[in-house]
Parts: sequence; structure tokens; C-alpha cells
Amino acid sequence: MHFWSFTPIALLELTFLAVLHGAKWTYNGPEGEHHWSKHYPYCGGAFQSPIDIQSKLLRFDPTLLPIEVQNYNLSPNEQLTLGNNGHSVQISLPSKMYISSLPHRYTAAQLHFHWGSYGRAAGSEHTVNSRQYAAEMHVVHFNSDKYHNMSMAVDKSDGLAVLGVLIEVGEFNQAFEQFLRFINGIKYKDQRIQMPGFNIRALLPARLDEYYRYDGSLTTPPCYPSVLWTVFRNHVTISRQQFQALATTLYSSHAQDSAAVPLKGNYRKPQLADSRVVLVSFKEGRGLRGIHTVTSPLTRRQIVKQLLVGDLADLADEGLYRLLPSGSEKLRVGMKEDLKDLQSENRAKSKQQTLNPSLRKKGQTNRSVGKSGLAEDELSYVSLEHRVFHQLKLSHREHQLVQALRDAVFPELNLKSYLDCKSDLALPAIRHILRGRPTDEALELDRSLTKALMNQGNMSTALKHILPMTHHGSLSPATVPREPQSQSYPHPWLLPMEWED
Ligand SMILES: [Zn+2]
Repeated sequence: MHFWSFTPIALLELTFLAVLHGAKWTYNGPEGEHHWSKHYPYCGGAFQSPIDIQSKLLRFDPTLLPIEVQNYNLSPNEQLTLGNNGHSVQISLPSKMYISSLPHRYTAAQLHFHWGSYGRAAGSEHTVNSRQYAAEMHVVHFNSDKYHNMSMAVDKSDGLAVLGVLIEVGEFNQAFEQFLRFINGIKYKDQRIQMPGFNIRALLPARLDEYYRYDGSLTTPPCYPSVLWTVFRNHVTISRQQFQALATTLYSSHAQDSAAVPLKGNYRKPQLADSRVVLVSFKEGRGLRGIHTVTSPLTRRQIVKQLLVGDLADLADEGLYRLLPSGSEKLRVGMKEDLKDLQSENRAKSKQQTLNPSLRKKGQTNRSVGKSGLAEDELSYVSLEHRVFHQLKLSHREHQLVQALRDAVFPELNLKSYLDCKSDLALPAIRHILRGRPTDEALELDRSLTKALMNQGNMSTALKHILPMTHHGSLSPATVPREPQSQSYPHPWLLPMEWED
């Protein structure tokens, strides 16, 4: 996925971001993906894309409707702009095109591609059980119910929806020919031409009802985690010749540059799953035996509500374990009693507080109201970045921007994702919610959760999603070296949190 558009407003925005961040990025070398987070801190942050779509991350969700697209069949009279932005080839799309089957209307903005190189037909961004396809198409849409344009939406947590299409080399594809026949006219960076419209629907696979769904990010700087991803299960094919045209015609350098740099291998490597799950709209086929079905939205909301205001002991006894990262078992037997004791103590305490209002903690009520309103408030990443940067500046710790942003954004993102999109509820998110609760009771629940997660037989499996690597680099999860300490020593998230009093 790629944030680039031809509209003057978007170009202005891009210039602003470039000034803010220092701009240049590539897929290899000193400006390559491992260095993106220096200038674009979200690239090292939470909920990044693409990911390796592994069977163990999948959850069947019976509520996922077939994708429906509107006005995708464009007439040849409608002119489209085909351009080379130095990172990809992109086609601008008219705003009458939209997705109608999501909770909001998502209006199309552009589509573009990621691909391998001449000798290597492996350049998709998403991989399925580590299998990389030859190329990948992204059709980018923004939430036009809530935002006026792409620039407004790009950094909002509910801003974008992207359709991802995996592409393999095989049969010739007539639909791809509609734009491939023009790419000789945009060999160099910043070149663009007008071309006749065609049926964009024909670029998508025949079946739009089978897909993977997860919460993720732009796969290029600034990497905002603002994308609701739909990756279709079925790939499309292009011929070897068509793939070679895509992989060998274009340059990421300007026509006037003395050294021409080929535009190839423009894909980002898979990112950490980060306690996310991948929802699937189907449950038949290879790798899907014994696939879990997601908890119903009602149960999920009830549990979050209970975390916010309900009986924590009941929650520990009943359903919470089901919503923890995959494979978590029931919480320790007997905890309910411990908590009941604590609760009666707390009730006594709060009675005291009622009798003596001066003992009441300031802001306690406001805080829990704030938390319950969280699901409706959307995060804005630009303003969050400014705020965190400002705070860090005060404490002379600017180099920690990536980690600080990650810490600031992860719990809310996880909670939002959990409410909207059924991610597993990670411990940081639970802690985030529990901050508004009576201290002893919540602390006890927190301890039990930590213990339950650590006591699991297969700790490496259970904690895989919540034990992040120290570097948030872009190595494929399979090739990231395990830290020796992660087996024996819990991550800070698993240690008892600091309570405010
Ligand atoms: Zn893309």
C-alpha cells in the first residue's frame, strides 16, 4: 500500500511530510526499509503491514460479507492518469468508485503494484504461510463518510481500506494489458500519461467473497496503522511476458539523472503479527482444519464493558481467557475467591471514600468515562506523533520516539481492533482498560493474567504475539533471531504494571 496521489492537495501534504521527515526512502541500501523508522517513526511501530498470513493466525468470522464494489466498470471515455512515482506504477481512480460492503463507504483513490525483479518472480508484500507471490496489487480507498479526502484520512485509525490482490505468473491477463501497454510512456520517475478507462473489476479475482481481513498499515512511509486490509484468498495470473514488462520497464530515477536506477523489488518484508488475528470469510480448504470461530461481537463488547465497570472476579472466572492471545488457558482456579475478598475490601474502602469525600481520587470518574468513549474516538497519528515528540524533547530522549509511539498507540489500537475487528485482546490493552478500575482488584486480575500467560506449557507459542523483538525491524518473523532472554524473562508488558497510586 502506498500513499501517493496526483491531486495538488495530496502533493502539498506530501511536501509537508517530506519537510517534516526528511523524505527520501527506498527498499534497499542506506535508505532501505530497516532505516525507515528514523524519519518515519510509525514504520517501527505497532500494527504494521504487510504480514505473513499464517494458518495459526486465522479465525473464521461468519459475519464477513462478500466484498461489493460499485462503479468499477469505467468507460473508455473516462481518462485515467497512469504514473510512475519512483516507488511504483499507479493509476488514479475516479471518486465514483467505492466499496459498499464495509461499515462505512470507502471511496477509491488509486491502485498500484509491488513486484519482484527480472530473474525473481517473487514480489508480493503479503505472503501466505511464507509463500510469496510474483506481485501484488493494492486498490486504495478512504473512509469518505468521515473524511473529505485521502490526505485527511491517511493518518486516522479508521481512515483507509485497501483491497490486496496476489498475482502469480501463469495465464495471460487481458485486463492488465489495458495499462501495461502504456507503461513505456512512464519509464521515469514523475512521468505520467492519460489513458482510457477500463473495467477495474476485471483486475480483481472472480470471487470477492473469500478473503483475509486484518488491521494494518501503509506498507510505505509514513507507515500509519490506518488500513483495514482485505487480501483476497484467490490470486490472479499474468503471463511471464506481462510480469517482465512490469519488472523491467520502469526506473525509480528521473529521466535527466545520469545513473538510471531500475524500479524493481519494491515490496516491504512481512512485519510482526503484534497480537493481531487474521479473520477469514471462509473455512473450507487446506490449513483450515480446526479453525477457531471468533467470539461473537456481543460477547466481546460485554467482556470489555465488564473490564470497564463490571465484576472482575466473575470475568476472571468466566470468559476472559478466551480473548487472550491464542492458546491461553483458563485463569487460575481460586482466583475468584481471592477477588471476592478484595472486592469486599474495596467496597469497604469506597464506602469510606463516600463518607469522606476528600479521600476520593481526583479524576477517577472522568477517567473511566474517557476509557469507555475510546472505541468511538479515532486516533490521529500526526498529532500523536507531535505530542509524543514534544514530550520526549522535554526529557531529552528524542531517540526513543519509535518505542514511545509504539507504547502510546499500541493498547488503544489493540482495543479498537478488538472491538471493531476482533483481534485477540492483548495484555497491554487489558491493562489500558483496567487503569480506571479500583486498584487492588485490578492489580490482582492483572497478576493472574500475567501468571496464566507465563504458566502455559508452550510459552513460546503463547507469547509469540506479545513478546516483541527488541528491534522492530522488517525481517520475516521466521528469520528473526529469538532473543535468548525471552524464554526465561518476561517482557515488561508481562511484569506488574505501575499503578498510579
Ligand atoms: Zn501498496
